[in-house]
Amino acid sequence: MSVLSAPYFHDEAAAYAELEATLWPNGPICPRCSGTDRITPVKGGRIGLWRCGPCKRQFTVKVGTVFESSHIPLHQWLQAVYLMCSSKKGISSHQLMRTMEVQYKTAWFMTHRIRAAMVSGDLTPMGGEGVTVEIDETFIGQKADMPKRRGYAHKHAVMTLIERRPEGGRSRSFHVSGTSAATLLPIIKAHVNSGTHVMTDEAGQYAHLGKYFTEHDFVTHGAGEYVRGDVHTNTLEGFYSVFKRGMKGVYQHCSEKHLHRYVTEFDFRYNNRVRLGVNDAERTDRALKGIVGKRLTYKQPLEV
Ligand SMILES: [Zn+2]
Repeated sequence: MSVLSAPYFHDEAAAYAELEATLWPNGPICPRCSGTDRITPVKGGRIGLWRCGPCKRQFTVKVGTVFESSHIPLHQWLQAVYLMCSSKKGISSHQLMRTMEVQYKTAWFMTHRIRAAMVSGDLTPMGGEGVTVEIDETFIGQKADMPKRRGYAHKHAVMTLIERRPEGGRSRSFHVSGTSAATLLPIIKAHVNSGTHVMTDEAGQYAHLGKYFTEHDFVTHGAGEYVRGDVHTNTLEGFYSVFKRGMKGVYQHCSEKHLHRYVTEFDFRYNNRVRLGVNDAERTDRALKGIVGKRLTYKQPLEV
């Protein structure tokens, strides 16, 4: 049977039951008093409406999440989350609009809220003893006020840190204002354990990494050197190939102020990939767990 046949993609009551099972594995939790006792369904109430005995509050599983105060049926939210989580390069708002037969503004609203759900709370340092972290940057799009020319000054810059671990490492990407050492170094130092073996290309902004990390090796791309023994940035090249194909093919018109959200989305899928034992269903589940505590409205700027 097709995954898309699951009742929670079509039926509102089933969708609520699915989200409740994901967010409340041990039963409903009151968003006001955090109580779990004497919570009962509201008789004759809306689908998914509960009442807390102690504090009398009525609530649904959407309270306090990115789905709160949205009029989009929950089963459609679940469809959209699944589509974004199961497509390796993501799905554009235009495609979502066509597939779900919703207005563009609605599709745009949904994709950005789902990206908010994908924001990881993982800020633990990357790398560590015996672990390699590859560091590189890539350039995409075009800045609104700059004409196209040679070089990268007119493009948006993204820097990524990616771990090499036998069991599969993590990625963490940043939309950066430029690629000078002054911009990149503080980020690298804040996110990478000093006991790490870091690998980069020969770019000048990385020249002094050896001062801050156990070991720094680089390949000289300018001289055609891409691999020297285990010195390379090919893990990151693989990540960027998906990222760039996605950004180019799927997200053609990404404005600068939203770029960090797209970057988050590609990190999310990478950090929840098949190689780490995460299939499409589990990845969707993890995105759904991320909707909590990130309530957003149309007017509110998407600062997550
Ligand atoms: Zn309560």
